[in-house]
Amino acid sequence: MRKLALLCLVLSCRSTPQTVPAAPLPVTPPSAERQASPPPPPGIDLSIIDRAVQPCDDFYRFVCGKWLDRTPIPEDRPLWGRAFSAILERNQDVLRQILEKDVRGEPDPADPFVEKVRDFYAECMDEPKAETASFKTLQEQLAAIDAVRDAKALAREVAQLHRDGAKPFFGYTAQQDYKDATQVIGAVDQSGLGLPDRDYYFKEDKKSVELRALYVDNVGRMLALAGLPDRSKRIMALETELAKASMDRVSRRDPNKVYHRLDRAGLTRAAPRFAWDDYFTAVGTPEVQALNVTVPPFFEALDGVTQDFDDLRIYLKWRAIEAAADALGKKFVDERFRFNQALTGAKVLLPRWKRCVTMTDRALGEALGRTFATTSGGEQAKGKAREMIQDIEKAFENNLGTLDWMDEPAKKASLYKLHKIDNKVAFPEKWRDYSKMQIGRESLLANVRAAAEFENARELAKIGKPVDRSEWRMTPPTVNAYYNSSLNEMVFPAGIMQLPFFSPEAPLPSNYGGLGMVMGHELTHGFGDRGRKFDGDGNLHEWWSPQVSKAFTERAECVAKQYDGYVAVDDVHLNGHLTLGENIADIGGLKLMISALRARGPTQEVGGFTPEQQAFIAFGQVWCTNYRPEAARTQALTNPHSTGQWRVNGPASDNPDFAKAFSCQPGSPMAPINRCTVW
Ligand SMILES: [Zn+2]
Repeated sequence: MRKLALLCLVLSCRSTPQTVPAAPLPVTPPSAERQASPPPPPGIDLSIIDRAVQPCDDFYRFVCGKWLDRTPIPEDRPLWGRAFSAILERNQDVLRQILEKDVRGEPDPADPFVEKVRDFYAECMDEPKAETASFKTLQEQLAAIDAVRDAKALAREVAQLHRDGAKPFFGYTAQQDYKDATQVIGAVDQSGLGLPDRDYYFKEDKKSVELRALYVDNVGRMLALAGLPDRSKRIMALETELAKASMDRVSRRDPNKVYHRLDRAGLTRAAPRFAWDDYFTAVGTPEVQALNVTVPPFFEALDGVTQDFDDLRIYLKWRAIEAAADALGKKFVDERFRFNQALTGAKVLLPRWKRCVTMTDRALGEALGRTFATTSGGEQAKGKAREMIQDIEKAFENNLGTLDWMDEPAKKASLYKLHKIDNKVAFPEKWRDYSKMQIGRESLLANVRAAAEFENARELAKIGKPVDRSEWRMTPPTVNAYYNSSLNEMVFPAGIMQLPFFSPEAPLPSNYGGLGMVMGHELTHGFGDRGRKFDGDGNLHEWWSPQVSKAFTERAECVAKQYDGYVAVDDVHLNGHLTLGENIADIGGLKLMISALRARGPTQEVGGFTPEQQAFIAFGQVWCTNYRPEAARTQALTNPHSTGQWRVNGPASDNPDFAKAFSCQPGSPMAPINRCTVW
């Protein structure tokens, strides 16, 4: 739910984007024998360019063609990208080496929480123990649910599960008040579903029907593994009720549609049968009054769901099992993977150490990340990156002056917003304090729950306190970036400040086409169809005149229509409105990147390519990605980001500088007569 305020570069806004869920042996052997491939040399890669294709016909194919043809997707991955996946793999190797040293008891002076990190990872790597010890932890959790016989007990148990990291019915967290960014309030949001999106519960196409059948089967088998009777159909019926009342993804992109400050009394009126007082006490915020009820009709519907306690208990148990699955024994993990395969297409499960690295990063990312940070670029890289951000911001300012659809007051307010953006680079100045997290050697599941408990308490403790502007929402190794509308800030973790995106030694065009484009993308988010609704102080209100808003919307609709026309896989098109914000950011980012580079003055030709051509090529080569069909389908249906091909050809075809750089004939596929331009 914290995603509500964040706009990310890729995939989900989760810290480390990948699915989890078995291979053996506790720790070691040293990972040297299976190192990920080394980083590519700085600069564009001429060897993967497909010269049989004209850049003006299909730029993606031109810059990535040979890579696409010769790069298989690893068996354990849903997709493989030249930049994102390769760096993720390299970062995982670095983290593994850190963790194995920790387990061997070697000194790790950067990390004051090394014992917790070590115990978490070691417990995770002990698969035979997870088999029995985690199962015991689960049984205790399920036994507690058996005590749910009335509304008060139900509310208390929902609170306990929320603290444990499960999400029955709804989610509850802290949120900056959209309309008063200086305040932190509580927020309750729709949740409680097992399929990736509400629409999956209703769609009648063959694949959706099959997926629902597979899900029901998966629920039944997982319940059986936990020693419970098969009540999967009842669970499906209950989730379908919740799905009906859930707001769809496209609507949720509008911050006005997910902001309803009802406060506690209003929430209680919306859903009077739920024992809210018991819930808020049990979850750890007995006094909370200020609440955003994101989707009021969802909570009204929640009040009408079954009062059959047999059904409610089995639903809570299923939510607990699902949340615990990654930390349980092989049969659970395999069964869960069988279901996930339908969504990702992955052929085999990720090896256990990769899953354990990811889980440790999720649990203790700002402890593990402190050691990771010592292996990253250092002050020189940070300084260079900050310089690039300034260039990109300057390019935005220059461009702002040229816009004919904006009036002077809107330009002035936009400039104010631009100058107020906070930029965070590489890793936090102030690291998270994990002293209160209870990590031990009881079981992996106990540790996963302890990490969730810590995070839940840390999050909810913000309610009613001044906003902490120093916090990071991604861990340092994360290969991603984000813009946060309420804080009006951009964040670039050390994970993405690597080749092929960036290196202090790389030629300017490849740094600008790589990381510069990412910076332009995040900056444009501040002014996209969602981000533009928040002013420079992070407050949600209409700060443009109706004329300017109307002119913006017309331009945005052009982009939505353009991307609606793109095919992700088979007959599945991109959803132009789901991906609108990301596409506006890509189109704007590319424009900013190239004008920032131009302002830096000429650099050298490489392989017969001019500096501007190199920058476009570097940008395109970041997105070279091979997808399994299942993964492309899931992405198109649920993810606000377009697939790799369209993240290149979409923005490039909207960019007149691109057409000029490659001398494209007007009317050619990459230089259409009518372009969409927002910023
Ligand atoms: Zn983005």
